[in-house]
Amino acid sequence: MTTTLSISQLITDAIASLPEKVRYKCDRAKIDKWLERYGCTCDAELLLAALNREDSRAALKMHAPPILMAKLLVWLSPKVVGGDGNELPPGFELLLHEPLPEDTLAHAGMRQSTRVVTFPFATPSQGQRRLRPPKLIRGAPPARADLDLMCPLYSCERALYPAAFLDKIGLCTVFFCEQLSYDGQRRRDVPDLDGGTLFIDVSDRAVRRSRHAWHHELWHMADFQLRGPAFEQPDAEWEAHNPDSFTYGFGGQFMRTPGTADPPSAPSEHFINAYATSSIAEDKAEVWAALL
Ligand SMILES: [Zn+2]
Repeated sequence: MTTTLSISQLITDAIASLPEKVRYKCDRAKIDKWLERYGCTCDAELLLAALNREDSRAALKMHAPPILMAKLLVWLSPKVVGGDGNELPPGFELLLHEPLPEDTLAHAGMRQSTRVVTFPFATPSQGQRRLRPPKLIRGAPPARADLDLMCPLYSCERALYPAAFLDKIGLCTVFFCEQLSYDGQRRRDVPDLDGGTLFIDVSDRAVRRSRHAWHHELWHMADFQLRGPAFEQPDAEWEAHNPDSFTYGFGGQFMRTPGTADPPSAPSEHFINAYATSSIAEDKAEVWAALL
């Protein structure tokens, strides 16, 4: 933590970094009074202490939205939030979320394990927090109409699995968002296998593709539980069913051309589609999704 940090500039930067729709909730004059009252106008450590205290937090909440406090906490104590002794990477934006709106159609299990993203975020996956430069998962809050349309669909697909299966594959949280990307590449789903989380871009309203993708990603999670990080490694039992001398490609991230997931793209009867030839993990996930 820097001791030469200008608290005033820090507050200015933090407010400027907020999404427009909540920025107006910051009453700068009252925030300055709050700083004076808690004696932290020029000391970052005192500011951090005040942000961590119940009474002073409650006082600040009257003049600033919770996201401002969350930002200041991250900026002042990156090691605390990183959770593993690593500083958070540049470009990091907190993943803030809330429960599904009450009038969204969803089964109880879906409701319990699903969160809706409330602000644009950029976060490394659990397994890659140590990676430098990190590969960031980015996204933004979903439009309500997309959420209302797609949530019941995912809820029905989720209901096909017994709770014990979902427990066993380690699915903890589903995040609904939009503008989803991974390491700069646009994605409709991103599973964070170590974290047991699945990010879904609900702006893709294509029914068949969305249902298929749900099961595809769940298989990746099951595969990860079965084989650990080795799930991309050769598997003789599986590959015995491939054509002679066939070799997989370099992974799904290198096969993003539209149409490669359509059945006519399959190079032979051994595969569901071209995408299934990109890697053994994608092959298994495609077969699983098609079975479901
Ligand atoms: Zn996949």
